[in-house]
Amino acid sequence: MTKKTKKKWLKPTMTPFRMGGINKFGGTGKAIWRSEIDGVAVADLVTTHGSPLFIYSERSLRQNYDNCLRAFTARYPRVQLAWSYKTNYLGAVCNILHQQGAMAEVVSRFEYEKARQLGVPGNCIIFNGPHKPRDILIRAIDENAYLHIDNLDELFLVEELAQELERKVAVGIRLNFDTGYTEPWSRFGFNVESGQAMDAVWRIQSSRHLKLRGLHSHIGTFVLDAKAYHAQARQMCEFMLLAEEKTECRIEYLDVGGGFASMNSLQGVYLPPDQVVPSMDQYAEAICEMLLEMTHERESQGIPRPTLIIESGRALVDDAGTLAATVVANKRLPDGRRALVMDAGVNLLFTAYWYNHSVTPIEPLEGKPEETVIYGPLCMNIDVMRAQIMLPPINLGNTLLFHPVGAYNNTQWQQFIEYRPNVVLINTTGEAHVIRTRENLDVVIQQEVLPQHLLSPYPKHKPKL
Ligand SMILES: *Cc1c(COP(=O)(O)O)cnc(C)c1O
Repeated sequence: MTKKTKKKWLKPTMTPFRMGGINKFGGTGKAIWRSEIDGVAVADLVTTHGSPLFIYSERSLRQNYDNCLRAFTARYPRVQLAWSYKTNYLGAVCNILHQQGAMAEVVSRFEYEKARQLGVPGNCIIFNGPHKPRDILIRAIDENAYLHIDNLDELFLVEELAQELERKVAVGIRLNFDTGYTEPWSRFGFNVESGQAMDAVWRIQSSRHLKLRGLHSHIGTFVLDAKAYHAQARQMCEFMLLAEEKTECRIEYLDVGGGFASMNSLQGVYLPPDQVVPSMDQYAEAICEMLLEMTHERESQGIPRPTLIIESGRALVDDAGTLAATVVANKRLPDGRRALVMDAGVNLLFTAYWYNHSVTPIEPLEGKPEETVIYGPLCMNIDVMRAQIMLPPINLGNTLLFHPVGAYNNTQWQQFIEYRPNVVLINTTGEAHVIRTRENLDVVIQQEVLPQHLLSPYPKHKPKL
């Protein structure tokens, strides 16, 4: 007896095959497991420091910095890198980059204070951002930081402070304009096309207490088209030349911000990062070629070329950071998909909302890969580390590595539901140092205050249950 059962219709799906097989470009992708980071066994690190665990590579950080600096200095005579604190302000990470020669690029009072506390002198700090309260501005002026003014109200305030301090303060301004390649971030700085930016230059140059010394712009983040920087460099140079001609200011530096993409997979971009992410040389070429061309005549009149400042964040730190997390449960969802619950979620890996990080076991896994959802530990529906990935069967207690995660996670992570874990740095000789210790209850409640009448939860009635 054969009962004719109609096959259930299933929605067709396309899943890029990522587990090391031949892809459509004929490549075999990355290794399907990875047991070590800079020669140190991940399993040992997790045994010693717990899971989840953020792991940083000092060697990668220093190499990325050298690579970036070399790409630019090979093409342009004056280059200075500035480390974007908001991308990663772990003190150890910042000081590695400062030791390499980076200035600090900060966007708030907290970040300014953090840079100073790490030992960065004021005149090695670039102070960006739309919110610089009065008292920190006074300190920044006093310490000769590079101030980049964001708006007219700030301009008036800086002028007022300069007058009170009886100082002539050299400032920069942030520009925004349409490169034609990226969504213009017109909310930051002064707009070029509307004439607002040139008005600001006039305002500064006609003040007895201010003088313009630099121009800044930052056109976006994870910018995949290097041509955008070509356009940016041209527009900044045009503005510089015009401002110098009109107001007799002398621009000492052009700060082109950051935004270079890291080797990460943005959700919605089908091609793998090694196919779409420009190299540092391509970014450098786009910027420097235009800069050399646009400042050539100026230089032949004896005016030194402006220093080029680069504020690259994610491209320097992203691949230096890895998150090791452990499988705490296996599940089968009603629709047949396999699900994993990990001990790390979007509380620690904020960028999981935007990127498909590579997910790699630390030992070879047997069995046929199948479609899997990776959840974090939060009791929240949004806590998805990866909506869809092909993975072989994984056992409870197995460790998975999420990579690259060095950018914007250890700054945007939240103490939400769970404690934040240890962060270790592997130094260039293969020793692991804890650079941020895991939180505990004392840390989390440190700022809380219980008023006298709320010291006890049950002064009268206990719950009946
Ligand atoms: C965030 C930021 C950067 C760094 O951007 P990345 O995309 O990480 O390179 C640089 N400059 C400014 C002003 C920023 O706000």
